[in-house]
Amino acid sequence: MFTQFQFCQLCRLNHKKKRKHIYSIRHQNVVNNILEKYLRKVTEARSNLKSPQIHNAQFERGAKFWCHFCVEEELKHMELDTCTVKYGGLIEHIASYEHKRKMYNFFYENKVDETKRHPDLFHMPEEELKKFKEKVAIQAKEYDSGNREELEKSAEKIRQTDALRNQVVQSHHFSTLKVCGA
Ligand SMILES: [Zn+2]
Ligand SMILES: [Zn+2]
Repeated sequence: MFTQFQFCQLCRLNHKKKRKHIYSIRHQNVVNNILEKYLRKVTEARSNLKSPQIHNAQFERGAKFWCHFCVEEELKHMELDTCTVKYGGLIEHIASYEHKRKMYNFFYENKVDETKRHPDLFHMPEEELKKFKEKVAIQAKEYDSGNREELEKSAEKIRQTDALRNQVVQSHHFSTLKVCGA
Protein backbone atom coordinates (compact mmCIF):
# COMPACT_ATOMS: atom_id res chain seq x y z
CA MET A 1 0.00 0.00 0.00
CA PHE A 2 1.15 3.50 -0.77
CA THR A 3 2.22 5.45 2.30
CA GLN A 4 2.39 9.20 2.03
CA PHE A 5 5.21 11.27 3.38
CA GLN A 6 4.41 13.50 6.30
CA PHE A 7 6.35 16.59 7.22
CA CYS A 8 7.36 17.09 10.85
CA GLN A 9 7.46 20.82 11.58
CA LEU A 10 9.68 20.38 14.63
CA CYS A 11 12.29 18.09 13.10
CA ARG A 12 11.90 19.76 9.72
CA LEU A 13 11.93 16.44 7.88
CA ASN A 14 9.75 14.19 5.78
CA HIS A 15 8.98 10.75 7.13
CA LYS A 16 6.68 7.80 6.50
CA LYS A 17 6.35 6.65 10.08
CA LYS A 18 3.02 8.33 10.84
CA ARG A 19 2.38 8.58 14.61
CA LYS A 20 5.39 6.39 15.37
CA HIS A 21 7.62 9.29 14.46
CA ILE A 22 6.52 11.12 17.65
CA TYR A 23 8.11 8.37 19.73
CA SER A 24 11.39 8.31 17.83
CA ILE A 25 14.53 9.35 19.69
CA ARG A 26 15.20 12.03 17.11
CA HIS A 27 11.80 13.68 17.55
CA GLN A 28 11.92 13.42 21.33
CA ASN A 29 15.37 15.04 21.37
CA VAL A 30 14.17 17.89 19.19
CA VAL A 31 11.15 18.45 21.45
CA ASN A 32 13.33 18.42 24.58
CA ASN A 33 15.72 20.93 23.04
CA ILE A 34 12.91 23.24 22.02
CA LEU A 35 11.32 23.09 25.47
CA GLU A 36 14.62 23.73 27.24
CA LYS A 37 15.43 26.79 25.13
CA TYR A 38 11.90 28.13 25.32
CA LEU A 39 11.80 27.65 29.09
CA ARG A 40 15.03 29.60 29.43
CA LYS A 41 13.56 32.48 27.45
CA VAL A 42 10.29 32.42 29.40
CA THR A 43 12.17 32.35 32.70
CA GLU A 44 14.25 35.33 31.64
CA ALA A 45 11.10 37.20 30.65
CA ARG A 46 9.42 36.33 33.95
CA SER A 47 12.35 37.76 35.91
CA ASN A 48 10.98 41.15 34.80
CA LEU A 49 7.56 40.65 36.38
CA LYS A 50 8.32 42.41 39.64
CA SER A 51 10.17 45.33 38.12
CA PRO A 52 9.45 45.89 34.45
CA GLN A 53 12.41 47.11 32.40
CA ILE A 54 11.53 50.27 30.51
CA HIS A 55 13.59 51.26 27.49
CA ASN A 56 13.21 54.00 24.94
CA ALA A 57 10.72 53.69 22.08
CA GLN A 58 13.43 52.66 19.61
CA PHE A 59 14.62 49.71 21.69
CA GLU A 60 14.48 46.56 19.49
CA ARG A 61 11.34 47.91 17.81
CA GLY A 62 9.41 45.17 16.06
CA ALA A 63 11.51 42.33 17.54
CA LYS A 64 9.64 39.02 17.49
CA PHE A 65 9.82 35.69 19.25
CA TRP A 66 8.56 32.30 18.06
CA CYS A 67 5.98 30.46 20.13
CA HIS A 68 6.49 26.76 19.52
CA PHE A 69 3.10 25.89 20.97
CA CYS A 70 1.06 28.35 18.92
CA VAL A 71 3.36 28.00 15.87
CA GLU A 72 3.43 31.72 15.30
CA GLU A 73 5.55 34.80 15.67
CA GLU A 74 4.64 37.40 18.26
CA LEU A 75 6.04 40.73 19.42
CA LYS A 76 8.78 40.18 21.99
CA HIS A 77 8.42 43.49 23.79
CA MET A 78 5.46 45.65 24.72
CA GLU A 79 5.64 48.68 22.47
CA LEU A 80 4.09 51.77 24.02
CA ASP A 81 3.97 55.28 22.54
CA THR A 82 6.91 56.69 24.42
CA CYS A 83 8.76 53.61 25.60
CA THR A 84 9.29 49.86 25.27
CA VAL A 85 8.71 47.31 28.03
CA LYS A 86 11.27 44.55 27.71
CA TYR A 87 9.66 41.11 27.20
CA GLY A 88 6.22 42.66 27.68
CA GLY A 89 5.00 41.07 24.45
CA LEU A 90 6.08 37.60 25.48
CA ILE A 91 4.58 38.04 28.94
CA GLU A 92 1.23 39.10 27.45
CA HIS A 93 1.32 36.19 25.05
CA ILE A 94 1.91 33.46 27.61
CA ALA A 95 -1.01 34.77 29.68
CA SER A 96 -3.49 34.23 26.83
CA TYR A 97 -6.06 31.47 26.87
CA GLU A 98 -5.20 30.38 23.33
CA HIS A 99 -1.56 29.94 24.32
CA LYS A 100 -2.57 27.82 27.30
CA ARG A 101 -4.79 25.63 25.15
CA LYS A 102 -2.10 25.14 22.52
CA MET A 103 0.58 24.50 25.14
CA TYR A 104 -1.40 21.53 26.52
CA ASN A 105 -2.07 20.41 22.99
CA PHE A 106 1.67 20.47 22.23
CA PHE A 107 2.42 18.45 25.39
CA TYR A 108 -0.21 15.90 24.46
CA GLU A 109 0.63 15.62 20.76
CA ASN A 110 4.35 15.22 21.44
CA LYS A 111 3.96 12.95 24.44
CA VAL A 112 6.00 15.31 26.58
CA ASP A 113 7.11 13.79 29.85
CA GLU A 114 5.34 15.20 32.93
CA THR A 115 8.66 16.39 34.40
CA LYS A 116 9.37 18.52 31.34
CA ARG A 117 6.02 20.27 31.01
CA HIS A 118 6.22 23.14 33.52
CA PRO A 119 2.75 24.49 32.69
CA ASP A 120 3.02 27.02 35.54
CA LEU A 121 6.05 28.59 33.87
CA PHE A 122 5.05 28.33 30.23
CA HIS A 123 1.66 29.81 31.04
CA MET A 124 0.77 32.69 33.33
CA PRO A 125 -2.58 33.41 35.01
CA GLU A 126 -4.38 36.55 33.87
CA GLU A 127 -4.19 37.90 37.41
CA GLU A 128 -0.39 37.95 37.21
CA LEU A 129 -0.50 39.78 33.88
CA LYS A 130 -2.82 42.36 35.44
CA LYS A 131 -0.32 43.01 38.24
CA PHE A 132 2.50 43.32 35.72
CA LYS A 133 0.52 45.82 33.67
CA GLU A 134 -0.20 47.91 36.76
CA LYS A 135 3.53 48.09 37.45
CA VAL A 136 4.20 48.94 33.81
CA ALA A 137 1.72 51.81 33.98
CA ILE A 138 3.50 53.29 37.00
CA GLN A 139 6.98 52.78 35.54
CA ALA A 140 6.02 54.19 32.14
CA LYS A 141 4.60 57.29 33.82
CA GLU A 142 7.83 57.73 35.76
CA TYR A 143 9.76 57.25 32.56
CA ASP A 144 7.74 59.91 30.79
CA SER A 145 8.28 62.35 33.62
CA GLY A 146 12.02 62.20 33.04
CA ASN A 147 13.36 59.92 35.75
CA ARG A 148 14.86 57.58 33.18
CA GLU A 149 18.29 56.93 34.59
CA GLU A 150 17.05 56.63 38.15
CA LEU A 151 14.36 54.22 37.04
CA GLU A 152 16.79 51.95 35.24
CA LYS A 153 19.15 51.92 38.17
CA SER A 154 16.49 51.04 40.75
CA ALA A 155 14.97 48.36 38.51
CA GLU A 156 18.38 46.78 38.17
CA LYS A 157 18.88 46.91 41.93
CA ILE A 158 15.53 45.19 42.59
CA ARG A 159 16.43 42.46 40.11
CA GLN A 160 19.78 41.86 41.74
CA THR A 161 18.31 41.76 45.23
CA ASP A 162 15.64 39.32 44.04
CA ALA A 163 18.18 37.07 42.39
CA LEU A 164 20.16 37.00 45.62
CA ARG A 165 17.07 36.36 47.73
CA ASN A 166 16.01 33.49 45.45
CA GLN A 167 19.42 31.92 45.87
CA VAL A 168 19.20 32.22 49.64
CA VAL A 169 15.63 30.85 49.72
CA GLN A 170 16.62 27.96 47.49
CA SER A 171 19.66 26.99 49.51
CA HIS A 172 17.67 27.39 52.74
CA HIS A 173 14.87 25.26 51.30
CA PHE A 174 17.41 22.67 50.29
CA SER A 175 19.05 22.50 53.67
CA THR A 176 15.61 22.31 55.35
CA LEU A 177 14.76 19.37 53.12
CA LYS A 178 17.97 17.67 54.10
CA VAL A 179 17.24 18.23 57.78
CA CYS A 180 13.69 16.90 57.38
CA GLY A 181 14.91 13.90 55.47
CA ALA A 182 17.50 13.04 58.08
ZN1 LIG B 1 9.62 15.21 14.47
ZN1 LIG C 1 1.87 30.67 22.33
